[in-house]
Amino acid sequence: MEWEKNVRKVVPYTPGEQPKEKDIIKLNTNECPYPPAPGVKRALAQMDYEDFRLYPSPSADSLVCALAEYYHLDASQVFVGVGSDDVIAQAFLTFFNSKKPILFPDITYSFYDVWAELYGILYKRQPLDENFRIRKEDYLKDNGGIIFPNPNAPTGVLEDLSMIEEIVSYNKDRVVMIDEAYIDFGGQSALELINKYDNLLVIQTFSKSRAMAGMRIGYAMGQPKLIRYLNDVKFSVNSYTMNRPSLILGVEAVRDDDYFRKIVGMIMSTREWMKKELSGLGFSFPDSRSNFIFATHEKYPAKELFEYLKTKKIYVRYFAQPRIDNYLRITVGTDDEAKALIEALRTYIR
Ligand code: PMP
Repeated sequence: MEWEKNVRKVVPYTPGEQPKEKDIIKLNTNECPYPPAPGVKRALAQMDYEDFRLYPSPSADSLVCALAEYYHLDASQVFVGVGSDDVIAQAFLTFFNSKKPILFPDITYSFYDVWAELYGILYKRQPLDENFRIRKEDYLKDNGGIIFPNPNAPTGVLEDLSMIEEIVSYNKDRVVMIDEAYIDFGGQSALELINKYDNLLVIQTFSKSRAMAGMRIGYAMGQPKLIRYLNDVKFSVNSYTMNRPSLILGVEAVRDDDYFRKIVGMIMSTREWMKKELSGLGFSFPDSRSNFIFATHEKYPAKELFEYLKTKKIYVRYFAQPRIDNYLRITVGTDDEAKALIEALRTYIR
């Protein structure tokens, strides 16, 4: 077809499977194993469906204000979007507009190169060291912008805030984005640096620690000028990104800090138990500070284990990619799910 030559051709990101079966143990997409805060349920019951005929607030004020209050920021320092995927995509479009390549790790969130390709942004992958650590020097050179997750995905490795500050401070002439999708599971956020550096954008999500992946809420925090530029681009694509239920329920999720701390604590303690058990079975893994463990086995190929677990209705994530094709990324579930996983592995690994 002639029109095909004008198509913007892309190789899309492949999300983890969302199987239809009900009785599975789903440890493949880093969702929270616990329900959202109780206030979310109450607010859902009280929602007036008639309001849905009206457009939502284009500036998403209620949620922006709730987040600003929670993090002790001004509302002008917060941007919200449809999951952090939307926030990061908008941020790529807004800030990565240089002739020089942007930098991110070779092993990282596999959406970054997809957005870069989509928007025609040059990029260079910087290899992690043999322990899956970021090599700071790789980011202390000329570039068009920087993004990496902290903790990194799918490795779970957390880098020190001092190293992040050095990278942000060296790169004052371009925007550095820290994707903190997993920061609540034991990391120190770069949020405390935003008042010091006008080139730093910190991105977080409701999908993991706030148990709201299904509502699609993400946010970015930075100095007002960064947020203004982000909003300019957002309002040039779609004014109403945040739907009414997400705005209402998102506010409720932010308000209940006790519940948030409780479920994050439970996930971290299950994670530490899983680490002990997995080590006992002959797995090794970088020390995870996220809600997943990136594990490899000395004897059993990851792909084989992945397929075996599926027959037991336990879904984990496997990436057929260089350097990591012998690893499984296992989401931390409830204690019962973790026990079922370990038991299934124990029967296979004898
Ligand atoms: N960043 C990283 C590192 C992730 O692993 C994910 C989850 N796939 C996201 C961003 C996007 O999450 P969400 O769009 O659900 O906020």
